[in-house]
Amino acid sequence: GQVLNDRYKILNAIGGGGMANVYLGHDTILDRKVAIKALRMEYAHDEEFIERFRREAQSTISLSHPNIVSIYDVGEEDDNDNIYYIVMEYVRGMTLKQYIQQYGPLPAEEAVDVMKQITSAISHAHHNEIIHRDIKPQNILIDNKGNAKVTDFGIAMALSHTSVTQTNSVLGSVHYLSPEQARGGTAIKKSDIYSLGIVFFEMLTGRLPFSGESAVSIALKHLQSKTPSVRRWIPDIPQSVENVVLKATAKNPFHRYENTAQIEEDLATVLLPSRMNEEKFSPPE
Ligand code: ATP
Ligand code: MG
Ligand code: MG
Repeated sequence: GQVLNDRYKILNAIGGGGMANVYLGHDTILDRKVAIKALRMEYAHDEEFIERFRREAQSTISLSHPNIVSIYDVGEEDDNDNIYYIVMEYVRGMTLKQYIQQYGPLPAEEAVDVMKQITSAISHAHHNEIIHRDIKPQNILIDNKGNAKVTDFGIAMALSHTSVTQTNSVLGSVHYLSPEQARGGTAIKKSDIYSLGIVFFEMLTGRLPFSGESAVSIALKHLQSKTPSVRRWIPDIPQSVENVVLKATAKNPFHRYENTAQIEEDLATVLLPSRMNEEKFSPPE
């Protein structure tokens, strides 16, 4: 196989989307597995995409958090074609999307646990003035020990997510699109909070809150339709858990959680009172 910078051996493809391909690689110097994200060939001559790809690496590299995929190295290879790549921590497991598809809705305790981890990751990013802008289960990796790691940072700044002419990867994001972004506005920290709320809904129910014929019709639902109740699908979900979804996905940013710290605060206690009421937690006779 191909070797980048005389160091990183490319083993096999493990994923990819609109902008990049991701490979399992081997770092021959440190003798460890790595993930290598490479800008797709068709964009290797497009300055705008190259710039965006570099920016992605730069914004992630400034972050150091157990629930954010670590960046190890970036590089450009001058072959006959230019290869732009990011070397990162290899997460052995699957995406949260695959996890939900494979196991169905997460039990409330597990969903709350994953939600705590990803909210902590986004808190760290926001403290560093970085807005993720593309929070979705496809960009959250779950390793074999149940650790959640957020990846794919800082992309799509210049892209309008609502445009029907966008690539599939951008269309995919419309399911997690905040009302203010659906309206064509720029993403703010609270837009990440909205996306987190949709991801929480999806973990709890195994489904998306809004679906439709087109990206535009889904974007309109984010703007206009009430977030459906988690209880409709999972009748025994505690109201306290449901409330986190509702407060994170408030249409008006002023009614939404002020910041990620508030979500973390609620998540810390969300299962405590109701758990005591549940039969399985009542003391033995
Ligand atoms: P873009 O949205 O910029 O086009 P992308 O969405 O294709 O890029 P990523 O989301 O970073 O790129 O990665 C694509 C897929 O590759 C992920 O959904 C996941 O399946 C896999 N993947 C990415 N990074 C890692 C990693 N560090 N370890 C293991 N698998 C990874
Ligand atoms: Mg992605
Ligand atoms: Mg991406």
